[in-house]
Amino acid sequence: MPHVPREERRYKGTGVSPGVSHGIAFVHHPGKEEIPRYPIRPERIDAEILRLEAALKATRRQIEQIQAALSAAVGGKEAGIFDAHLLVLEDPSMLDEFVRGIEQDRQNAEYVVHQTAARYAEELAALKDPYLSERSQDILDVSRRLVTNLTGKAHPGLSAIQTRHVLVAHHLTPSDTASLNRDLVLGFATEIGSKNSHTAILARSLGIPAVSGLPPGFEALLDTGDELLLDGYRGLLIVNPLADTIREYQEFARQRARVEEDLGELRETSAVTRDGHRIRLSANLGLVDELPIHKLSGAEGVGLYRTEVFYFNRDELPDEEEQYQNYVRIAKELHPHPLVIRTLDVGGDKPLPAFPLAIEDNPFLGLRGVRLCLQHCEIFRVQLRAILRASAVGNVRLMYPMISGLPELLHANAILEEVRAQLRQEGVAFDEKLPVGAMIEVPAAALCAAELAREVQFLSIGTNDLTQYTLAVDRMNEAVAPLYEPTHPAVVRLMKQIVDAGHAAGLKVSVCGEMASEIGFTPLLLGLGVDEFSAAAHMVPRIKRAVQVLTIAQCRELTARVLQMESGAEILAACEALAREHYGALLA
Ligand code: PEP
Ligand code: MG
Repeated sequence: MPHVPREERRYKGTGVSPGVSHGIAFVHHPGKEEIPRYPIRPERIDAEILRLEAALKATRRQIEQIQAALSAAVGGKEAGIFDAHLLVLEDPSMLDEFVRGIEQDRQNAEYVVHQTAARYAEELAALKDPYLSERSQDILDVSRRLVTNLTGKAHPGLSAIQTRHVLVAHHLTPSDTASLNRDLVLGFATEIGSKNSHTAILARSLGIPAVSGLPPGFEALLDTGDELLLDGYRGLLIVNPLADTIREYQEFARQRARVEEDLGELRETSAVTRDGHRIRLSANLGLVDELPIHKLSGAEGVGLYRTEVFYFNRDELPDEEEQYQNYVRIAKELHPHPLVIRTLDVGGDKPLPAFPLAIEDNPFLGLRGVRLCLQHCEIFRVQLRAILRASAVGNVRLMYPMISGLPELLHANAILEEVRAQLRQEGVAFDEKLPVGAMIEVPAAALCAAELAREVQFLSIGTNDLTQYTLAVDRMNEAVAPLYEPTHPAVVRLMKQIVDAGHAAGLKVSVCGEMASEIGFTPLLLGLGVDEFSAAAHMVPRIKRAVQVLTIAQCRELTARVLQMESGAEILAACEALAREHYGALLA
């Protein structure tokens, strides 16, 4: 029989956990869950509720066991993810609905649990918030476990696979991921999932390369036993890789290992260019649990603490004391480096469950960020008090999000002044010199940066929103994603204007949007004169290396050229060319 060459196929997704794996596919088809449904006779209702309670108890025990095993393997931080699962089991309104379904609708517990959880999950997923979507996955994960405990039929379990493999699945839950045998799973590829998902967080901490967001139904095109190459850096799944592809990846893996080894040595060094220009390189923070990664990254403090994350997933707003303790804890960990606390930035794509807002037609243009705080001063004052009090203990700075003009900034500062006066009167300590900054992420604020700069002690450019609002491109909408260009001439020129206005007023200007995390843009930001980069913690060593191999003269020359350019693509190409020339190995 003539030899038929194998055809290499490539599927594009998003790399959610870095690394490359090469091995044999195991395609996981969990099968459609059959949920038993039958009526409960009135005299059996109590017994059915007892059965539900026993299953709830067993589920709690299992989750605690997974948590303990995970904690022993990778530490408490990752195991903390299952706290969200335990909370699902304690949700009083959901538990009430389970019981009501049995008592009033006279349905069996499996059916009631499945229906109720599916409805809750659907409602959360419909809010289109990445954080809440993950909570909806938590609910589904817990309800599956609960139904399994009720029916007594064990989930086949991914841990049952006995050979080394690259796992292929439509979707993996956090408990699926935690139960993977790390000696046997070389990597995983899924359709459902995002960089923010708990599954991706776990994969990264477990060191398992992963690609998500693969084309719909891709798993049906694969068979267990297929040879796979999975590229968690570039978000690629390659089926039947050719010998040349495999060689290319082996070389890539060798280079990568060398780069990682070198980067580890940078922790104690400063971000100084070859010609002696120093910048501050800090990191962004969402969850307090990320602090150990910050420490390892060598970041000089937190340049953006997104405090809204602390307000999510709870029924009541955190009170002053709880916020104070939270800020103090972080500030102490970072000391002597600064902690820049951004005041609440909810609204837009970030609803606040503990403080439901009216539905808006254009939420990104609505009651968002500082606007909400100025309309609901009672929330704002509590947060300002907590931040001011924390400033007595650590190196704390305060920053307002979504400032769009001078009156708004003056209003925020006036409330801050009232809160200061109140604390003085009460004899409560705080740092009288607490630096206050404004985020510049609305084009109007960029154009009025000179006036705003007079009223604050620093400026921080939020390139994510500045790009969205300058270009009128929704940052969440996949359909217009190609139009979302941070290198659009309009965005770059506005950034130049902000930096110049800040410097003219004698202020430092930082960038805390995602542009600071992209090493392709490092020369551009340096050339614009940005004084501080606040980036994703895991990118900090790479950015530091990029800074160290550049000269400020090269960066200024690039920026001068770029400011004359007429398209985002041209600017992007110029930035990437310089980055490739000086630190191509870091870009991979
Ligand atoms: C930004 O808009 O660039 C920013 C840092 O704020 P967020 O991403 O939280 O809106
Ligand atoms: Mg923003």
